[in-house]
Amino acid sequence: MRSISILGATGSIGASTLDLIRRNRDQWRVVALTANSNAAELAKLAREFSAEVAVVADEGCLPALRESLSGTSIAAMAGSAALIEAGARPADVTVAAIVGCAGLAPTMAAIAQGRTVALANKEALVSAGEVMTAAVARSGATLLPVDSEHNAIFQCLAGNDLAHVRWITLTASGGPFRDWPAERLAHATPAEAVKHPNWAMGAKISVDSATMMNKGLEYIEAFHLFPVGTERLRIIVHPQSIVHSMVEYRDGSTLAQLGPSDMRVPIASALAWPARMDTPCAPLDLAAIGELTFRSPDETRFPATRLAREAAAAGGGVPAVLNAANEVAVAAFLDGKLAFTRIAAQVEETLGAFAPGVPATLEEVIALDAEARARTRELMEPA
Ligand code: NAD
Ligand code: MG
Repeated sequence: MRSISILGATGSIGASTLDLIRRNRDQWRVVALTANSNAAELAKLAREFSAEVAVVADEGCLPALRESLSGTSIAAMAGSAALIEAGARPADVTVAAIVGCAGLAPTMAAIAQGRTVALANKEALVSAGEVMTAAVARSGATLLPVDSEHNAIFQCLAGNDLAHVRWITLTASGGPFRDWPAERLAHATPAEAVKHPNWAMGAKISVDSATMMNKGLEYIEAFHLFPVGTERLRIIVHPQSIVHSMVEYRDGSTLAQLGPSDMRVPIASALAWPARMDTPCAPLDLAAIGELTFRSPDETRFPATRLAREAAAAGGGVPAVLNAANEVAVAAFLDGKLAFTRIAAQVEETLGAFAPGVPATLEEVIALDAEARARTRELMEPA
């Protein structure tokens, strides 16, 4: 029997994780489940899985959560301190699946306790960078990547020395607008952007996939997880999303990880690591898929990957600013207040608007994130 906490249990990754737990109920004990504000859904999950504690980020939702959990022994909690406490709670695996930099503090709380963290929340690592990797080194925590590309790379590296690596290649589907002409992109709607051809995901990451900022964030994520330097890290577009990423070694061997476009595969890989577990995912039918194709990214139509590569090379607080500006711009786009092509343009403008210092602590990262958000809002809506 192993124990698990899921930060962001009501989201897309949370649901995929709980689906695997549901199929193996006798093997897992659920410790903490968290959500932003959907108390009803959180309470339903907490009851189903007999969680120890259920936490909503929004304190205004605590009465509703308490009400929905009445008659159970599940503790109901709310607020940022409670989220951090949920992250710190003893569990064999803590799944970090909150979207955005909002997940940073609870993820860092799990890391500080030396836990095994299954990391989906890429924005947390992008923002904190070395602050997070240093905390992992200090506490002896184990960071297992859940993002499908990074999980693929982790599997292809199989503990090999990075000195033997010639290239790490991240694959990108190219998103729903992969083949759209530049003129059409300016008029892309939120509904069109969230309709991903291969994956079903939360709204924010779906928009990031459409702008290619998702691959940009993943580039920075890979830069920290597998420190081979920007000169050995690259992106290739692979529309079928079957090859999830590749590692080329100095002898000319390239190892790739293939699988269906179903997040339950990388989640299962992280949950069972270093062993393996069953998933209900359909076996890979390559004859039915027929063709796997690859092409170079088009950074003219999709400048986000260039911005991210530059941010990774600049280091320090720059990736945190890129991430914060992107979160604000994506929210404005989803709200119908910003044109699709303005998302990356806004990120570039924010990056040009101030030179951040190098945050050395979690608190400094959080302060920089808040400052970059405020600055982005100012630039978007001049007084
Ligand atoms: P989602 O929007 O479906 O779910 C997000 C979860 O975080 C929900 O439980 C929500 O309640 C919670 N949350 C949102 N804002 C919060 C806040 N301010 N405070 C506390 N909790 C908050 O998102 P998702 O698609 O599941 O993605 C989660 C993370 O995993 C993201 O970082 C994303 O980039 C990453 N990821 C997702 C996929 C995927 O297929 N969905 C794949 C790879 C990586
Ligand atoms: Mg990914």
